[in-house]
Amino acid sequence: MNYKEVRVLVTGGSRGIGRAIVEAFAEHGARVAFTYRSSTEEAEALKMRVNGLSFQCDAADFQSAEQTVNEIVEQWGGLDVLVNNAGITRDGLVMRMSESDWDLVLNTNLKGAFNYSRAASRAMARQRFGRIINISSVIADSGNFGQANYAASKSGMVGLSKSLAKELATRGVTVNVIAPGYVETDMTDAIHEKIKEKIIKSIPVQRTATPDEIASSVLFLASKEASYITGQILGVDGGLSM
Ligand code: NAP
Repeated sequence: MNYKEVRVLVTGGSRGIGRAIVEAFAEHGARVAFTYRSSTEEAEALKMRVNGLSFQCDAADFQSAEQTVNEIVEQWGGLDVLVNNAGITRDGLVMRMSESDWDLVLNTNLKGAFNYSRAASRAMARQRFGRIINISSVIADSGNFGQANYAASKSGMVGLSKSLAKELATRGVTVNVIAPGYVETDMTDAIHEKIKEKIIKSIPVQRTATPDEIASSVLFLASKEASYITGQILGVDGGLSM
């Protein structure tokens, strides 16, 4: 698959899965831009490594999403691939969950994906080519104890993606979802070892995923070879959702 000159924007690209996606595209010759919220050191190092563009902006901020996409389109003359990856958790039982923890997770994960999709889809529809890939989670389908806000945001991303896929289908723009299972990143670092062992036992392949394994599925959906795939959810979960 050839990504030479392909123009890519990844939200939340400074660490974890997002960083692996940025690096994978750059290794395959793409032009890469990414956003982040606060990890400036990691972002600066990555930007140098991949010779890309970085933008410090909160995914939840509607205006900065539009500004970021406009700036990229101005500099590069268009945008081919958007990966909505920025995401957070604020876990707690519903009966104890604060309004701010609900709002923060929904605004970052779901509204963030809307903000960037809205801005990017205009440029993509204009050029009659585009790939929007939204990083959801197996939790979107199963729900999870203590993660009602996160599960709602991730299943919201599925509804957003399928609707947008229908809206953009005749414009050469595909919209798909990747639903990772358990991936080794800072997000899952906080989980207690005993619980991790239990999770791994429940995964058919008996191991967690690396961020690179999620990145390679993103590269596939972004490719020209995936042109007839739209509105789909690709589980990258070692069989967890079976
Ligand atoms: P991570 O290691 O915590 O990294 C999250 C990235 O998102 C960081 O670069 C972070 O930048 C950025 N970010 C967070 N809030 C942001 C905001 N408001 N605006 C812009 N950027 C923001 O998380 P991860 O594990 O790589 O997860 C990436 C995505 O995969 C998330 O959507 C997550 O829900 C999904 N996912 C992860 C797993 C897993 O097991 N890890 C499983 C399923 C789905 P800063 O450091 O600057 O905040």
